[in-house]
Amino acid sequence: MSNENKTIYDFELNLIYDFFSTMQRQGPGSPEVTLKALGFIDNLTGESRIADLGCGTGGQTMVLAEHAPGHITGLDIFPGFIEILNRKARQASLQDKVKGIVGSMDALPFREEELDLIWSEGAIYNIGFERGLREWRKYLKPGGYIAVSESSWFTDERPAEINDFWVDAYPEMDTLPNQVAKIYKAGYLPVATFILPENCWTEHYFVPKHAAQEVFLAKYAGNKAAEEFSAYQAAEEKLYDKYKEFYGYVFFIAKKTEPFPGKAE
Ligand code: SAH
Repeated sequence: MSNENKTIYDFELNLIYDFFSTMQRQGPGSPEVTLKALGFIDNLTGESRIADLGCGTGGQTMVLAEHAPGHITGLDIFPGFIEILNRKARQASLQDKVKGIVGSMDALPFREEELDLIWSEGAIYNIGFERGLREWRKYLKPGGYIAVSESSWFTDERPAEINDFWVDAYPEMDTLPNQVAKIYKAGYLPVATFILPENCWTEHYFVPKHAAQEVFLAKYAGNKAAEEFSAYQAAEEKLYDKYKEFYGYVFFIAKKTEPFPGKAE
């Protein structure tokens, strides 16, 4: 298989883990953006239960732990990421407030209507935007919130090069208005939608990724799969730079309401 035809799913998990484990974040975002999204959530108390799904090494989980009341569970499928999050929590003396657990977002270990807030930055694509919204709803209390960031098309039409890259990597990627409609149809009232500023990609994601890349390539010198993985990351960055007016990351904040807002089929 040539590198151009690979998606991130085709690389070995160990390589992906090794590459990203040295980074604060594993996707575009920033502490400022996490706080901006948190500013739309008005139902939290010291008793609140918050879940951060696909939390990675816990960049945004720790921002939530420092600024939101309540208890936070960070969940990720990579045990190594969860170890890093739990270490960060201990170092910040927040281990009673935030706890990382290994698990999968398609089989959540929560009770129905247990959660006040579901958070997920740059991770819902793993289960699919629509499926995640629909399946996670039952874990929220009535009036509970969901806040997710997801890649989004900013125009109905776009150059073939960038369209093909994303259709291959994530066929469900959709336009912003369609995504808001999906939220509505999944049983939530959309509360806020905002586009992540460019520095969430550059300063907070690509720049630290260059450092991670150096360490990674030194460790795996001569390993073809590792070199291909690294090249894939570089290609993704180049495409962003070239086509950023056509797509980006969007934060969606929505509230589980009764009656069900959109028509449930
Ligand atoms: N929220 C973090 C990480 C985003 S990267 C950030 O914004 O920095 C996506 C994360 O989803 C990775 O940490 C990956 O390990 C995790 N992931 C992938 N599939 C998953 C699944 N089925 N269940 C839970 N986490 C998953």
